Amino acid sequence: MATSAETMLKVIEPATEEVLAELPHAGVEEADAAVARAKRAFPAWRDVAPGARAALMRDLAAAISAHAEDLARLEARNVGKPIADARGEMAMVAEVFNYYAGAPERLLGDTIPVAGGVDMTFREPLGVVALIVPWNFPLPIASWKLAPALAAGNTVVLKPAELTPLTALELERIALEAGLPQGVLNVVVGPGRVVGERLVAHADVAKVAFTGSTAVGRRIGALAAEHIKRVTLELGGKSANVIFADADLEAAAGSAPLAVFGNAGQDCCARSRILVERPALERFMSLLESAVASLRVGDPLDDATQMGSLISANQREQVSAYVNGESPVAIRGNAPDGPGFWFAPTVLCPVANDARAAREEIFGPVAAVIPFDGEAEAVSLANDTIYGLSGSIWTRDGARALRVARAIETGTLSINSNTSVRVSTPFGGFKQSGLGRELGPHALEHYTELKNVYIATG
Ligand code: NAD
Repeated sequence: MATSAETMLKVIEPATEEVLAELPHAGVEEADAAVARAKRAFPAWRDVAPGARAALMRDLAAAISAHAEDLARLEARNVGKPIADARGEMAMVAEVFNYYAGAPERLLGDTIPVAGGVDMTFREPLGVVALIVPWNFPLPIASWKLAPALAAGNTVVLKPAELTPLTALELERIALEAGLPQGVLNVVVGPGRVVGERLVAHADVAKVAFTGSTAVGRRIGALAAEHIKRVTLELGGKSANVIFADADLEAAAGSAPLAVFGNAGQDCCARSRILVERPALERFMSLLESAVASLRVGDPLDDATQMGSLISANQREQVSAYVNGESPVAIRGNAPDGPGFWFAPTVLCPVANDARAAREEIFGPVAAVIPFDGEAEAVSLANDTIYGLSGSIWTRDGARALRVARAIETGTLSINSNTSVRVSTPFGGFKQSGLGRELGPHALEHYTELKNVYIATG
């Protein structure tokens, strides 16, 4: 790998602005070499007996658990996220590998009644798959792709975001130590426009699984289409947190701040549009103000911290542009002074649904409160967006909760809760939030090709 000064990448710790690591920056040659290694490793990995592949996946999960604290600290420092969150994320990464360890022996096909013989289907691995992931949840999002891809018998090239490559590199080392054969997992750290696009266009890459912005997803989708390449896309969001006047307002307001400000708002599932039924608005805002005031914002490595810093100066600049006077600032929380890319949790209210802060994914700790009158308006506002990733509904009326849940155009909804991701259930977007599903049994369909075989028995 080239290691001249121009090709070294400085990885910054966003809460301190210090250099956390320096590492070589890959280009097209390194991307091609990683694909070649993955291609060579594919036939042997595909032919590993299902039980043995399952055992290796479980070994990998155990190795991740054994290194969980170190991985969590590294992720917390590299992303600027609270250590408590990073610990939860590493536990989830191990759980994802354990979950998909069940897959190699359960990739079942069908037998289909036909005339003159027997017809059966097989789920075949695709070959080399490229995984391109963002900086907000680096290792969890990589694992959602990596575990089903490996379980189904594919080999992988993983490209982490340049801002946060460190845990992916650690995972590559841990996987080798745990017994994953050489070449099955290959991590390449390089720029999206160069390494990412090379992987998408590479003739030996059978599929691309991408998580990131809708703009880059659109570009990757177009490039993949030129090569008739399989692609899954997990993209942006602008999810609605719909709060009816009959809801448990203490619970709804108590959990609303972290539903937007968790991960400093850099969360594709952020419930960044808080829709509140007008009769409850005043009381909700007063409860929300207390909840925001009690948020602990600061040092990511402090166990009590609930919100850390933004990822970069550039991100902070972009987020600031949304607090521009177009909508009034109703609540402003605390944040440390520099160094570090800090931004205080901010609630805008009232916001019109056609204001920029309500239409665009801010990807920072800025929430827009949008008042509504009645169920029909709530549904219409929730759906008035190009996105459809996540969302919540708060009400004590069970029938209404289900009615509204069915009417909202979004991939993952919670009722009286703000959770989005569970390892065993499908996650993904409607509309411009993406294509395909991750997690649960459904993800395996995206890492296999369906083959039909007929045997004449006459
Ligand atoms: P990004 O789109 O800028 O980058 C994501 C990855 O794509 C990085 O590894 C980057 O290097 C690479 N990339 C950039 N340009 C590329 C190109 N032309 N070709 C190939 N690869 C390229 O996204 P980001 O800023 O890292 O992450 C934030 C975005 O990710 C937000 O929009 C967020 O909503 C989205 N996101 C979505 C989900 C989801 O599951 N739906 C989860 C997390 C983040």
